[in-house]
Order: sequence, then C-alpha cells, then structure tokens
Amino acid sequence: MKIFKFFSIFLFLIAFSCVSSTKNSNFDKENQPKFAIAIHGGAGTILKSQMSDSLESAYKEVLSKAVREGHEILSKGGSALDAVVASINILEDSPLFNAGKGAVFTQDQTNELDASIMDGASLNAGAVAGVKHIKNPINLARSVMEKSPHVFMYGTGAEAFAKEQGFSMVDQDYFFTQSRFEHLMRVQDAENNASASSQDPAHLMNEKLAFYDPILKASKFGTVGCVALDKEGNLAAGTSTGGMTNKRFGRIGDAPIIGAGTYANNKSCAVSATGWGEYFIRGVVAHDISAMIEYGGFNLEKSTSAVIDKKIPELGGDGGVIAMDKYGNISMRFNTPGMYRAQIDTSGAMTVGIYKSDTLLTK
Ligand code: ASP
Repeated sequence: MKIFKFFSIFLFLIAFSCVSSTKNSNFDKENQPKFAIAIHGGAGTILKSQMSDSLESAYKEVLSKAVREGHEILSKGGSALDAVVASINILEDSPLFNAGKGAVFTQDQTNELDASIMDGASLNAGAVAGVKHIKNPINLARSVMEKSPHVFMYGTGAEAFAKEQGFSMVDQDYFFTQSRFEHLMRVQDAENNASASSQDPAHLMNEKLAFYDPILKASKFGTVGCVALDKEGNLAAGTSTGGMTNKRFGRIGDAPIIGAGTYANNKSCAVSATGWGEYFIRGVVAHDISAMIEYGGFNLEKSTSAVIDKKIPELGGDGGVIAMDKYGNISMRFNTPGMYRAQIDTSGAMTVGIYKSDTLLTK
C-alpha cells in the first residue's frame, strides 16, 4: 500500500513537471520579440516568357542573399535601420537591379541616383536625389537623416555633403551595364521613329511611348527597397533607384520622396514602393497606406489593396509596394505582371517570388 502511494506521488510529480515545462516553452515562444524583413527589386512587365532559367535563378539568388543578410542582423538584435541598409546594399551592388551598379541611363547617357530611408521610431528621414558618384545612395540617405539637420539633398550639394562625411566617390563608369545601355538605345530609337510620324510634340510622344509600350516599359523598372521590424518593435523602410530610362530635365521619381516611395511609422507600418513614379507621387502612396492604418484602423492588406489595386490604376499608373505592420505582417501588393521580391516572416520562413503566379506572397 505504502509502495503504491509512493508510486502515485511519483507519477503525479512527473506529469506536473511535463505540463509545466510545456507551458513554459509556449510562454517563452509567445513572448519572443517578433522580427521580420521584406525586400523588392522592382515591379513591372516581368514575364516568364521573356526570362531565361539562368537569369531567373540569378535574380532569386541575389534576392535570397539580400533578405538573409538583413534577417541575420535582426536575429542578432540589430536595428531595423541597419537591416534595411544592409539588404539594400546587396541589391545596389548587383548589376541586375536598377539601383547603384546597373542603374538605368538618362537621356544624356548618365546615371542619376535617388534614395530615401525612414525610421519608424522617430519619424526621422533622409533622402538624396540626382547623385552621380555615390556607390550606395541608401547610405548617403541615412547620413542625411543622422548627420545633418535636413531631410532631402540633391545633386552636387548632396555630393559635397557626402565628401564631408567621408564617402568615397565613384566614376560614372562604375554604374555602366551593357543591358541598361541597350535599353536606352532602344527607347531612344523607338521615340525618334514615333515622334517623326506623330502629330504630338516630341516631348509628349516620348512620354507616351516610354510608358505605354510594354517592352520599353519593362526596361525602365528595377528599383530596390526594404522594410523591416526589429526585436525592439521598431520599423524602418528604405528605397533606392536609378529612376526611369531616358529621364531628363533632372526628373525625380517617388523613390526619394518621403510619403510617396518610402514611409515608416511604428504606429502603423513601413512601406517601400516601386513603379511609375509620377503616379506614386500624386497618389502619396506610402503615407496613404500608413494613414489608412493609423487613422482609419484598416489592416495592412486592405490598406495596400486600396492604394495599389484601386487608387493608382484609376489614376493611370502601375507598380507595387512591400509593406510591414508593427506586428510583422507583410503585404506584397502589385498591379503589374511581376515584382521581384523576398521575405522572411516572423516565423522565420523565407519565400522568394518574381511573377504574379508566385502566389505565395500575394493575397
Ligand atoms: N519608382 C521609380 C521611379 O519612378 C521607378 C521604379 O520603381 O522602377 O523613379
């Protein structure tokens, strides 16, 4: 009898310790600080029929490398800002994307780069436009945010600030890629032929052609961007681009404009946009999405959908966004055939997508 009593107490203790240890591990898991990251490499007429297998895997490889780099920083307790810059640097350094090396050409055969970054904790932001000798414009945007009293610098002034900050300058040759140069030649040939036979003034015809011809349109995109949530609960967003092929007159798109191409606010979300910049500026895309969450109480998907599926196409534009809310939910929404993209969500699962049919990342 005594043995039986002792045995049942022993069993009870074992069962209790099992239950409490399960409870503890759940408890710990639920209380782990959440972190996540998402990147894009541009939205546009990206079609499987126009992509070789080797090019597709090259894109996927760089996207995976970039998203992993940022995630690694977050997993070690690094800041969302550091993760955003590190991921974007990898995309800027790859000739595949229209940012840093591989930027598109202006009408004058130069490369003029734009970038911006925003810290969701402080609502501080930094941006540069039209810089020609900065290898990683996102780093300069961050310096504008952290090392100057200003938010937005352009052209030679921005480069003078960069020199003061110890940035080394690169020659324009650094940005050259044969494929981007051929795109410029194709766009310029098509525009010259079209304007010769058109009633429209040349500049109007140029703009129409450049935007409506699907092949020419495909040659324009490739902007890169990143949004991240760190273990401290801080959001950050950044965007970097060469803009649009054949741009002129110092044209600046949405990428360096806070509230249009980039926005981050810990109260709502972080957003980085890509697409037809003129429409994204007019649609104040990134801030619109944030405002729907902050003031309207909408969720992330509803907010990105209202802007990307409705507002922008109704204005006549196209493109997409990556967005992340303060819980680490991710939305990848675009109204073009494709958007280069990758994410590592709060569970640690990584996904990479290119075409619309890669449904994993779109709802
Ligand atoms: N939004 C960029 C711009 O208009 C282009 C892009 O995203 O590809 O400059």
